[in-house]
Amino acid sequence: MADIIQLLPDHVANQIAAGEVVQRPASVVKELLENAIDAKATSITLLIKDAGKTLVQVTDNGIGMSVTDARLSFERHATSKIKSAEDLFNLHTKGFRGEALASIAAIAHVELKTKTENSEIGTHLTIEGSKVISQDPAVVPKGTTISVKNLFYNIPARRNFLKSNSVETRHIIDEFHRVALAHPSVAFQMLHNGSDVFNLPSSNSRQRIVNIFGSKTNEKLVPVSEETEILKIEGFVLKPEFGKKSRGEQFFFVNDRFIKSPYLHHAVASAFEGLVKNDIHPGYFLFLEVDPHSIDINIHPTKTEIKFDDEHSIYAMLRATVKHSLGQFNIAPVLDFERDKGFDTPYDYSKKQPTVPSIEVDRDFNPFKEKPKQGNINFPFKREQSASWESLYVGLKDETAAISGLEDIEFESEEVTGSLFGNSEAETGQITFQLQNKYIVSPLKNGMMIIHQNLAHQRILYEELLKNITVKEAVSQQLLFPLQLHFSKPDVEIIEKIREQLEHTGFIFSEMKEETIEISGIPVLILESHVVNLLNQLVHDIKEEVPDSGFSQNDKLAKSMAASMAIKTGVSLNKEEREHLINQLFACKEPSVSPNNKLVFTTLDANDIDKKFI
Ligand code: ADP
Ligand code: MG
Repeated sequence: MADIIQLLPDHVANQIAAGEVVQRPASVVKELLENAIDAKATSITLLIKDAGKTLVQVTDNGIGMSVTDARLSFERHATSKIKSAEDLFNLHTKGFRGEALASIAAIAHVELKTKTENSEIGTHLTIEGSKVISQDPAVVPKGTTISVKNLFYNIPARRNFLKSNSVETRHIIDEFHRVALAHPSVAFQMLHNGSDVFNLPSSNSRQRIVNIFGSKTNEKLVPVSEETEILKIEGFVLKPEFGKKSRGEQFFFVNDRFIKSPYLHHAVASAFEGLVKNDIHPGYFLFLEVDPHSIDINIHPTKTEIKFDDEHSIYAMLRATVKHSLGQFNIAPVLDFERDKGFDTPYDYSKKQPTVPSIEVDRDFNPFKEKPKQGNINFPFKREQSASWESLYVGLKDETAAISGLEDIEFESEEVTGSLFGNSEAETGQITFQLQNKYIVSPLKNGMMIIHQNLAHQRILYEELLKNITVKEAVSQQLLFPLQLHFSKPDVEIIEKIREQLEHTGFIFSEMKEETIEISGIPVLILESHVVNLLNQLVHDIKEEVPDSGFSQNDKLAKSMAASMAIKTGVSLNKEEREHLINQLFACKEPSVSPNNKLVFTTLDANDIDKKFI
């Protein structure tokens, strides 16, 4: 048989790779703005035509490029920002992959004008579908202008896939906000079809937020500031009363890079606990600074997630800092973390004469400065953890005389150890406890099982939902007062499209028009307060095609709903809840993997444990 493998020509390879980097005009905006920031520009102008479908142009006054660099910048893996793999762990720039310009040039008509400070004359280069059309000297100011025209002109399928102008513009504005918020000292301008959308002078971060979101924002901001050895936090949260039902003003920046982090969002949301209703999302603009060595920027070009080495400590600090700020600015009484839970609800309260409670506000309370040695320890978890352990012991004591005096047990004796495991299962039913509000640990006859609570619950919900959607037998809980929810018009259209499937899960829509949806019944599986969240997440997932396309619509819907409904990491579960979850999990068809194929539980047997003591 003849050889059949061929290397793809560069322009085809580029086109394929471009699909990864450039999904829509907003991706071009992000890459070009970030390049301008990396080029140390102090003033950046973004010009858009037809939601970026016809033109995206970014002009900066940064360092510019030499003649050779101008040409090289469009080669794949051409970057001035890193030299070796080690540099990946010490990033101070936005870019590092060297593939944005190559990708963009593969699928659009691109024009580059650039000049460095010291050269007399600049460069004008045009490139179409990865082919250089012309490169000439040109008289241009210092800095760089890149114009990207007719995006996806050579991939009609991609072009047709673009959403309406209003949706694409919204994506562009989102990207613009993220970069502009992260760099308040840089002046930004944005024009769409010739008219001014934003004109943001160089300023501090508070002014930048106000300039973007309107003058009324100023009085809503509560400053947040903290510095410890591993983390610096600056920024603002919005006062609780300005939280919104739909997600909106939630911004995390890590080392000036916008990131999404449901985990850190949870930390902030939990600091607002008791101050906002369950279905309200607090707004925030938080700038975190960490040692670049301690994070791992996602290698995927369009992902906004990053990994922290010490996620738990960051969670704890963030939560405590936001709580502290809310207290310090008189928004909430500061809770004393050290205080015992029981202290708040004395059980002989009923016998006492009621008195007006006085609120204790400790404005100087600072968890980090007062307890420097505890600094990077996750103390807000501590209480929960010890409580779980306590309840484990309480359970043991109640149940078996053999263990009533734990100190008396001779652990060297294999027999006793054996009976310890045996007893706990046979006589006490399931003893379970929670680890870091993330895992449920349950002893087995010969070891223990560690279950990831969030993934386990996703599996349970996914199977239940999928059954409902396909077999159509879900039960609804009727709402006494129908929920009136407001969405953007395109979002309502999306919900309209999946209306039938949603109804199979138990939703009852009494009205759906323009920008309003009225719901009079919801699935029994969810709380009324979670509905907005759930629908927002669904719409988002459908727009962004999460999980990957290729699955059936029903499957995607069930996955997405399960993901947003499942108990999150960080939520503490009581004994009944833990046991219920375990029982439900093992009633599933495939308990061992989550809907997205992640491991749900693992076991550790006595042998594994024995090995640790050798
Ligand atoms: P990356 O940003 O990952 O390095 P890009 O493809 O975005 O990759 O850019 C390639 C190179 O082109 C950059 O490393 C930089 O040297 C140069 N470059 C791109 N945009 C600009 C700009 N606006 N000003 C100066 N140099 C730029
Ligand atoms: Mg770049």
